[in-house]
Amino acid sequence: MFRENESGKAKSVNVIIVGGGFGGLYAAKALAGKPVNVILIDKKNYHTFQPLLYQVATAVLSPGEIAEPLRRILRRARNINVIMAEVSGFDLAGTTVKLNDGTELSYDYLIVAAGARHTYFGHEDWEQYAPGLKTIEDSVDIRRRILLAFELAELKAQITGSHDPLHFAIIGGGPTGVELAGAIADIATRALARDFKAVDTTKTRITVYEGSCRILGIYPEHLSKKAVRQLEELGIGVVTGKMVTDVEAERIKVGDDWVPVSLALWATGVKASPLGRSFGVTVDGWGRVMVEPDLSVPGHPEIFIIGDMSSLVDIQGKPVPPLASAAIQEGKFASENILRDLSGKSRAKFKYRDWGSMAPIGRHRAVALIGRWGLSGFFAWLTWAFVHIFLLIGFRNRLSVFYEWIWAYFTRERSARLITGDINGILRKKTNARKS
Ligand SMILES: Cc1cc2nc3c(=O)[nH]c(=O)nc-3n(C[C@H](O)[C@H](O)[C@H](O)COP(=O)(O)OP(=O)(O)OC[C@H]3O[C@@H](n4cnc5c(N)ncnc54)[C@H](O)[C@@H]3O)c2cc1C
Repeated sequence: MFRENESGKAKSVNVIIVGGGFGGLYAAKALAGKPVNVILIDKKNYHTFQPLLYQVATAVLSPGEIAEPLRRILRRARNINVIMAEVSGFDLAGTTVKLNDGTELSYDYLIVAAGARHTYFGHEDWEQYAPGLKTIEDSVDIRRRILLAFELAELKAQITGSHDPLHFAIIGGGPTGVELAGAIADIATRALARDFKAVDTTKTRITVYEGSCRILGIYPEHLSKKAVRQLEELGIGVVTGKMVTDVEAERIKVGDDWVPVSLALWATGVKASPLGRSFGVTVDGWGRVMVEPDLSVPGHPEIFIIGDMSSLVDIQGKPVPPLASAAIQEGKFASENILRDLSGKSRAKFKYRDWGSMAPIGRHRAVALIGRWGLSGFFAWLTWAFVHIFLLIGFRNRLSVFYEWIWAYFTRERSARLITGDINGILRKKTNARKS
């Protein structure tokens, strides 16, 4: 597709997409083979399937099974180039994207989908003691910390005959917190139980701490109750209505009481990419840009912001949720609006289609909400498993994840139980964290 430039000559249309997550990737796919030049920029060279990060963190899957190189995914699209670089800002008047190395790339249309990260509500120093789960690096770090807690208990028990009680605290009772808790219970009671000699891993305590009055607040109350029941069946404690007010090495403060922990994990608080503030328009409390119904930035119809970075009440009057399904739909939709512009059609307004939401709890339990239909237990878990296999990018990943799940289900084993780094380096890090 060409536009005329000032000298009247035809000029090809350049679309820059920032972020190769769910929003950016599906925006790019919708422009594959279309008459536009596309550059997809991401600071990573791969797309991450975030809904299964918790399975890497709990040693079910390896990182490569839930991530796929962006170049490989888009290799057949001859009009799309992938660049691995970090975007530092934008020159809106000059219509350029600024990269960290000082390079500037010009665009006719810009789609920004740089996602979100967890926030510690002004206590960013808590992150070293209670890491959150957002990237592949986070999941490998959490896996290391979980497995190390068992190893250190075993070391102490072998030498002294006893060890401190193992207690994993999950701060935040949303889907990620619930998923992590269930999966850690599985490791402790099944996968590791036969391999540790001095530690009885089945006695591991796991507690989910939720500040509001119930876990899984985005689900109807009856499903929250079913989730609590399923967690309790796995021996997991659920504490609601109490805020975690401080986090230190090996202890957290719940209300006024300090609770000793082997490991705390952070599963609450999300903040949109700081790139959203570059546009000088209104952002909500999570730092998300309030976009127009066509997903463009107010005053800049050539710029679209999608996925976890944007905030919108759609034409049905419903707030669009920060979910992969929304980011996928918005990515396709923003690209379609660009193509509409280029063919002289008027733009459409975004309408979110609810694909449902699901939270697995351990090996064969889950809660799911599909439309008004609430499910729980084994059938909900089966639905979750099929949907996630289907949505994974790449046939190789689908096959490999399916194989790992079948293996883990019947053998109760975990195939990715690697602690990366040697014990001296790891212990040095731990001691430094205690001192600071
Ligand atoms: C642990 C976890 C579990 C989840 N489970 C579910 C689930 O079960 N179901 C569901 O629907 N949703 C789930 N979500 C939410 C879902 O993953 C997000 O809503 C979705 O990923 C948002 O897509 P996005 O494109 O906006 O951002 P992302 O997918 O986060 O992609 C952002 C991309 O931008 C890149 N980037 C960021 N900053 C820059 C920069 N400055 N320069 C260049 N590149 C940059 C990043 O590297 C990344 O690739 C989960 C999220 C997490 C963290």
